[in-house]
Amino acid sequence: MTNQFAIPTAPTSSITPVLARNRAFAAAGGHKNAVVFPNLRLFVITCLDPRVDPAHFLDLELGDAIVVRNVGGRVTQEVINDVAFIAQIAENVLPEGPLFEVAVIHHTQCGAGAFADATFRRTYARRIGADEADLRDHAVLDPAATVASDLERLSSAPAISERVTFSGYVYDVLTGLVQTIVPALRKNNDSEPAAATIRIGSASS
Ligand SMILES: [Zn+2]
Repeated sequence: MTNQFAIPTAPTSSITPVLARNRAFAAAGGHKNAVVFPNLRLFVITCLDPRVDPAHFLDLELGDAIVVRNVGGRVTQEVINDVAFIAQIAENVLPEGPLFEVAVIHHTQCGAGAFADATFRRTYARRIGADEADLRDHAVLDPAATVASDLERLSSAPAISERVTFSGYVYDVLTGLVQTIVPALRKNNDSEPAAATIRIGSASS
């Protein structure tokens, strides 16, 4: 039985050329020796912008890190739940000590700046059935500031194990360089007060 979704496999498909690359990847054994718990004990949250692929700008190998990408690389409730999920699994494997580090990386020239535009925001809110006011907070205009506020949100989330550490960065798409905004810190009960993260973030540009 055929259905309409099975028909367009033609050479016009965008994925056809990369499926050929996949054959080469598998033939070369690229998938071998990858492990499920990330080699670097690193969990990256960043933007889905194609210029901002951490496999490239952080030179990550397969299995090095868990990567979650969304519009802007924002710490949404779904992202908090994902971190809590991985932390709970890691707690079962590692009975004590630090589990892994969550690195939030926002970037310059981020398309999530579109959320600052009222017309765009109104149309999009209607389209996805969201509250327009909530969407305003998703804008990334000053990536150092949004990284700092997202770090605050992450590190104060009760769902996430206190054995997780957090850090925040800005990736510059023009220079290719990553700048540290918030150095690695434990949850809010750590020696580094969370309030410091906001001060650092807003001082940068
Ligand atoms: Zn972006």
